[in-house]
Amino acid sequence: MFLKRIELTGFKSFADRTELEFVRGITAVVGPNGSGKSNISDGIRWVLGEQSAKSLRGGNMQDIIFAGSDSRKAVNFGEVSLTLDNADKALPLDFSEVTVTRRVHRNGDSEYLINKQPCRLKDITELFMDTGIGREAYSIIGQGRIEEILSTRSEDRRGIFEEASGIVKYKSRKKEAQKKLEDTENNLLRIHDLVSELD
Ligand code: ATP
Repeated sequence: MFLKRIELTGFKSFADRTELEFVRGITAVVGPNGSGKSNISDGIRWVLGEQSAKSLRGGNMQDIIFAGSDSRKAVNFGEVSLTLDNADKALPLDFSEVTVTRRVHRNGDSEYLINKQPCRLKDITELFMDTGIGREAYSIIGQGRIEEILSTRSEDRRGIFEEASGIVKYKSRKKEAQKKLEDTENNLLRIHDLVSELD
């Protein structure tokens, strides 16, 4: 699996639809300061489900929408699509190419799509879980991230190894199952209370 293409429309400094093709091997993006290089990696993390506006260097989520410039009016929505080559079926979908899209409107509405089909954020998070390319995964090493990893608490560092070893998905399912069990136990308690009241 590898990232083949990214398309940005109305996302940060990319007012018009901009498409970047990546090839196997190394692709370097070069440009002067402030030309939008980091906005590309912000776009990747955003599609993968980043929910923190701060970590995308904005105040709120609408800040990712192109805000206008001297020569251009602001736009009403921002959209980013990532297309991944899935010939090796590393993503559990029966498609040789997978495109994930995220769109946000000025009124706050947002949409997520997998191969143009609307889906939930959870579907995208689960799709990438344990593949190493989730929003918190180690495939995106931002400025200062290595220092952060080295200085972080050992529990947090362990999370990086868990993601790499592919067990995050199971931990997440375990957490969901435990929550359901807890809810069921609470419901049972309530039923017992009702039964003893009726007795
Ligand atoms: P450096 O090399 O200094 O790290 P860079 O090439 O990584 O720079 P970015 O940080 O990606 O540059 O881009 C910053 C530019 O993006 C700034 O000019 C900023 O005004 C512009 N920008 C960010 N958000 C928006 C937005 N919502 N609308 C319009 N422009 C934006």
